[in-house]
Amino acid sequence: MRVVFLGTSGSAPTKARNLPAVALEHEGEVLLFDCGEGTQRQAMHHSVNISKISAIFLTHAHGDHIIGIAGLIRTLALNKRTGLLKIYIPEGQEGAVRSLIEFDNALIGYPIQVITIKGGVVHKGDDYTVSAFRVNHTIKCYGFAFAENDKLHFMKQKADALGIRGKMYSELTRKGHAVVNGRRVSLASVTTKERGRKVVYATDTKPCKATKDAAEGANLLIHEATYSERYREQAVERGHATALQVAKMAKAAKVNMLALTHISARYRDPKELLDEARSVFKNTRIAEDGMRIEL
Ligand SMILES: [Zn+2]
Ligand SMILES: [Zn+2]
Repeated sequence: MRVVFLGTSGSAPTKARNLPAVALEHEGEVLLFDCGEGTQRQAMHHSVNISKISAIFLTHAHGDHIIGIAGLIRTLALNKRTGLLKIYIPEGQEGAVRSLIEFDNALIGYPIQVITIKGGVVHKGDDYTVSAFRVNHTIKCYGFAFAENDKLHFMKQKADALGIRGKMYSELTRKGHAVVNGRRVSLASVTTKERGRKVVYATDTKPCKATKDAAEGANLLIHEATYSERYREQAVERGHATALQVAKMAKAAKVNMLALTHISARYRDPKELLDEARSVFKNTRIAEDGMRIEL
């Protein structure tokens, strides 16, 4: 599993940073979080296969996060895509996405489903879920938590010793218990649990409890840090976060790694943001376009 940053700027692009988009590659599938203008070309440049995108999760309908939909879906049509593409957007903002799909009556020969979200689990894969949680911005906006299901591993020796054979394994998995040689055996007593990996994405938002709760114990928290503390007032006014605020949250939520993104164009050198965050939470990185994080 791998996270690839395709755009790490906020509001306007810079020479070094494109508008927001993060690709999560998981078992041959690509999930895209936000789709700023030019995301399709960024994907090509950073070796993310756009034909593998199965779902796009849009945090909110501000232009910097969604305009890339217009070009991306047309290129997929030219590439003769046939499979379904799901696009998630907060309830009430779906008109913006529909206009990007429909404005020129382009021939799009594959199904696109625009799905409105109201929070909770919004998307299920074979072995993972994506949940949406409401964050605190100037308009309705959601963060997303990608979480793999926990995996159970049988303790072979113990299971053998108890006499568990063949079909009993599927019975145990299905029912949570089975009767083996006249004795009731619970699934928990013969398995160990491997916790699934979790990646949480939150932008644009002020720091909020919903994000902290969602990020609890995450392998990676990707969070906006549009500003440093010097511009705290502007951050509050415009519904954004400072690097310091986010670092405090990452620490409180006991995440493993923090990646800051949606960097304001005023920070040509984002060292100020990095220093500020690392003063509280060491394992912080400033996301750069093309940066990859293996999980
Ligand atoms: Zn933004
Ligand atoms: Zn915004």
